[in-house]
Order: sequence, then C-alpha cells, then structure tokens
Amino acid sequence: MPLVSIQASLHRAQAEGYAIPLFDVFEFHSIVGTIAALEKKRAPGIVALPSRWVEGPHAAAHVAAVRLLAEEAPVPIALMLDHGSSFEACMRALSLGFTDIMYDGSRLPVEENIATTKAVVRAAHALGVPVEAEVGHVGLGADYESLDSARDSLTDPATAQRFVEETGVDYLAVAIGSAHGLYKGEPQLDLELLAAIRQRVDIPLVMHGGTGLSEQQFRDAIATGIVKVNIGTDLMLTASRRMGEVAQSPKPSFFAYTAAISKAYQERCAYYLDVFGASGKA
Ligand SMILES: [Zn+2]
Repeated sequence: MPLVSIQASLHRAQAEGYAIPLFDVFEFHSIVGTIAALEKKRAPGIVALPSRWVEGPHAAAHVAAVRLLAEEAPVPIALMLDHGSSFEACMRALSLGFTDIMYDGSRLPVEENIATTKAVVRAAHALGVPVEAEVGHVGLGADYESLDSARDSLTDPATAQRFVEETGVDYLAVAIGSAHGLYKGEPQLDLELLAAIRQRVDIPLVMHGGTGLSEQQFRDAIATGIVKVNIGTDLMLTASRRMGEVAQSPKPSFFAYTAAISKAYQERCAYYLDVFGASGKA
C-alpha cells in the first residue's frame, strides 16, 4: 500500500486497547526486516528515521527505500520522523513526504517547546501531516539509577493538558519512567502518573525508551493509556550481536552479515507486535 499516516490506526488502537510500535531504521536491511515483520504479522506499523538521517545527505534515498518497500506490502505503513531536532528538520521531513513527524523540544523551557511545536503543527497540518511532541523529558538509560532519579523530568499532567491545548499536537510523548538506551538501574513506570495524564489528555500517548521493559510493564502501560511505543536500541543491539556471531562462524560471508541485520529486525519487530497486541490488526 502507499505510505499512510498512522493516525487512524492509533485512534483505532486507542479505542480497542492495544499499541502500535514505532521501529527506528538506519539502512536498507533494517527497513527490509521491519517491513517483513509487519507483513508477516499483518500489523499496521511505523517505520522511523531519526532526525540526523533526515538532515543527512542520503535522506531522500532512505525515504525512497521505505516508500517502495511499503508499496509492495499489504499492510498500512507510516513513515515517521523520530525526534525532529528543529523546525527546519521537521520541514525537511515534510518536503520528503513523511506521513507523520515528531518534533522534540523537550529539553527546552516549556514556553519555547510550545512555541516551536505550534509552528511545526501549523506547517504540518497544512499538508495533512499529524505531529507528535514531547513534554517532560525522556532521558538516557545510562543516567537512570531509579524512578526517583528521573522524577524531576517526568511529565506534569496539568502541563501536558496545557501543552496539547495550546499546540494542537496530535500525539503526545510522555516521560513516565522509561528512558532511551540501556538502563543503568531497574526501569520502573509511574502508572499513577500515566493515569493522571490520560485523564487530562485524550490524544494518543506515546512511550519512548521501550527497550529493557518487561512484557508485564508493556501490558500495564498499554492498559493505562499508552497507544504507541518507540523501539530502537533493542533492534540495533540484536542486529549487532547477530553480526558478531557471523564474525565468529567458520566462513563469515558479506551476505551473512547483511542477512543477519534483516533477520534480527524481523524477529524482534515481530516480537513487539505480538506483545503490544498489534498483530492481525492491519
Ligand atoms: Zn525516543
């Protein structure tokens, strides 16, 4: 199918109580593996390119690869900008035909975050493209000792409500205890906080930093209102480990390395689609 925004699928997931994963891809074989998993599981899904890739020299080629592979797949696939670093990066993604974009101003003072998010929303909506933004800040797992150590940057429910009302954003990434990359301590989610945000905000809520959470934590987060979960680190780590195994094999071939990337992506993406309840929902 042609690339399509994930918005309708997220609203359906929200009504029916499951979540849709976003998978970060970086090169051709990761794209192939991700789309193969979506096809096999008959699931809607989001293929995402990080901001640096969209700002870099091969952005259009990466987009073309996702678009052509998605067109051959019988399931709805969205192409999303992950953590758009500036207004300009978001505009570049719009010009390249992304179906959904995230602007991340979560490190800025909230008033600045609101102002830039609002400008991005205005431009994106003119083209019919939904926008995700983040309020509170999802930090790095490497700095994560415990939920209490992350407490200061968690999302405040009243601020989240004001942020959504003032910016007109379509999906909201919230900081509820998860973190990007591998966790130094044990990840814990503040489900009471998530429930309080859910009460004030009715658009799809997004959890970043999925790698390292247990299946139970995913289920609890989804039952409490998370509708989209971003996965990146686990995919990269599994693919790297598999390439390491190829290197250790008696006759490592070039093609065994590239196949290892696609296979690792396909397996791990399929796993998350099952855990989040997205399998069979295309
Ligand atoms: Zn993220």
